[in-house]
Amino acid sequence: MIQFHVYPGGKKRVVTFSYDDGHHNDERLVALFNKYGVKATFHLNGGKYLGKTEAELDVYRARYAGHEISCHTVTHGWPARMPLASLTNEIMEDRKILEHLAGYPVVGLSYPSGSYSDEAIVALRACGIVYSRTVDSHKRFLLPNDFLKWHPTCHHKDALPLCDRFINDLDSEWTHPMFYIWGHAHEFRTEEEWSVIEQILQKLSGNDKIWYATNIEIYRYMQAQQQLEISADETVFYNPTAIDVWVEKNKKQIILVPAGATIRLS
Ligand SMILES: [Zn+2]
Repeated sequence: MIQFHVYPGGKKRVVTFSYDDGHHNDERLVALFNKYGVKATFHLNGGKYLGKTEAELDVYRARYAGHEISCHTVTHGWPARMPLASLTNEIMEDRKILEHLAGYPVVGLSYPSGSYSDEAIVALRACGIVYSRTVDSHKRFLLPNDFLKWHPTCHHKDALPLCDRFINDLDSEWTHPMFYIWGHAHEFRTEEEWSVIEQILQKLSGNDKIWYATNIEIYRYMQAQQQLEISADETVFYNPTAIDVWVEKNKKQIILVPAGATIRLS
């Protein structure tokens, strides 16, 4: 039996952070994430960067370096309450501005105001968006069933009590693998509020059983796993993607299938 619940390096847990709206507090937040060696995704409204000079944009490029820049619509409308044509514009204009900022295709989103609908998702697909985060926190460590309705574990204000549960169960095969924390950097108004996120980072960081990833890295990795071609007797594995992939065989053997490689188990 082959199972996918193994991440880069054979790790079985993943932690990711997701922050919306592009506030100047992001700079301090990124410094904290870098200090603790974790990765985050920043969902930005491209309209805030219109008319900026290249020198001004370089400040933002430096701010988010090493993390993911992702869409949040160009002017922060409500996706479920606008014509699909307007939503399409909101996303494509955001993509163009953010791609100029980031220098790579920006194909993730978080729903502004948490607003989404099945119809809105049609527009997302048409715009080339591959994942989108909701604000429907489930307080669990679940992987998304549908990346266009990617429900997070919790807002950062609710994360601290869940950290111990996650860390204490790192070796359990019955605990779900992903701790996904979201919020807004503008919610950190006092030193006490900053200390909460630092306590969360102290508990979750620096653990060699955890993969620290951006949202798009998780999406890409899980897509690559799905693309593995495996022989019927589960001894030959071909990885047609550009991403190294790990799987688990018979609940004990961790197998690395390097990008582009075929491996045979003896
Ligand atoms: Zn927002």
